[in-house]
Amino acid sequence: MRSRFGLKCMKCGSENMEAGHATGGLGGPVMFRPRNTKFWTLKPAVELEAYICLDCGRLEFYGDTLGAKRITDKECD
Ligand SMILES: [Zn+2]
Repeated sequence: MRSRFGLKCMKCGSENMEAGHATGGLGGPVMFRPRNTKFWTLKPAVELEAYICLDCGRLEFYGDTLGAKRITDKECD
């Protein structure tokens, strides 16, 4: 989780990226909910992994691709 291989800031080109999570007001993780989820899915959202560039402050978010495929209809692609 800590260092995504080859992650580079798309703004300033720095490789000084720090991993973390975006959190809401109560400290819970911010989730991404795909528009087309299966209606019977128990957990219709995936957690986001965030990276901040320590040189310019740009934030990048990545989602759990396997989880996103599981809750949408893209599982068999
Ligand atoms: Zn940067």
